Amino acid sequence: LPQAHDLEPGLVVATYGRHCLVETPEGRRLICHPRGKKNQVVVGDQVLWQIAGDEGSIEKLQDRRNLFYRQDEIRTKSFAANLDRVLILIAADPEYSESQLSRALVAAEAERITPIIALNKSDLAQPFAQAWERLAPYRAMGYSVMPISLSPRSPVADDGVAALCKHLQGLTTLVLGPSGSGKSTLINRLVPDALVETGEISLALNSGKHTTTSTRWYWVPALDGSAEDGAARTALIDSPGFQEFGLHHIEPTRLADCMPDLRQHLGGCKFYNCTHLHEPGCAVLAQVETAEHPGTISVRRHRIYAQLFDELSQQRW
Ligand code: GDP
Ligand code: ZN
Repeated sequence: LPQAHDLEPGLVVATYGRHCLVETPEGRRLICHPRGKKNQVVVGDQVLWQIAGDEGSIEKLQDRRNLFYRQDEIRTKSFAANLDRVLILIAADPEYSESQLSRALVAAEAERITPIIALNKSDLAQPFAQAWERLAPYRAMGYSVMPISLSPRSPVADDGVAALCKHLQGLTTLVLGPSGSGKSTLINRLVPDALVETGEISLALNSGKHTTTSTRWYWVPALDGSAEDGAARTALIDSPGFQEFGLHHIEPTRLADCMPDLRQHLGGCKFYNCTHLHEPGCAVLAQVETAEHPGTISVRRHRIYAQLFDELSQQRW
């Protein structure tokens, strides 16, 4: 076994199959591979590594604060760790799916990561007003919902981007968004070198073809150029795809706890193991809004809950 003093610290800034790109505290980057199957790393991981031939070998994976999952056809897979925020970028157009939005929020809540919702394309007045209105329940739940425009025609002074950046300052944020929401535009705006860096990893790995589908870490340069010494740096993690979050690690009985509009009523149910789907004396069902009586939970949100509950119950193994 290597001695601890031979090992150097590093941050995983990209993953690529079994390989990953590790950045040292001095900002040097090198390709590493995990030793054995155990040290499977994700972007945002802190590791200890040592030189092994041309590459680095990851010898130790430090404890994670949290871990974010995605789902493919066959399994749930982790892809980002040690996050401070999850930024969910949606747009006035194309219209966002409320079910997808809720899933992303649940995924963040399950790991106790604060989500931020940004609604892009505020320059598209009419669709924006409608989309903003649809987000009213999410504002009522206490989520930060930030209006932004990334259109080059929007005046920078009131495009909302500076206000959004205040929420990200000094933190590590995973950026999620359906295709067309403006995610690439946002990353390129905040990280002017993003395209260059993407090219750099293709070169290092001698292949360009998978690069665009891998998860990447980007340092965000200080917006006003005034980075204080010792101040925490701002980072974004970009990950392609939005459709499938790995929610299957969540117990169905924990689901309501990951939805703030349901969560606030959980103490009032008659049965301790209430599923909030059909039970008499359910405090959640009593709050679902109907034509006859007002409530604090929208029918849509309860429907999303029921659908997710069903999925999580069926797919347990
Ligand atoms: P991605 O698929 O999420 O990476 O989205 P892109 O960044 O490629 O943006 C999708 C399309 O929306 C592009 O044509 C952008 O020029 C456009 N777009 C991005 N932000 C805005 C915006 O704030 N306003 C308008 N009108 N168009 C935008
Ligand atoms: Zn209940």
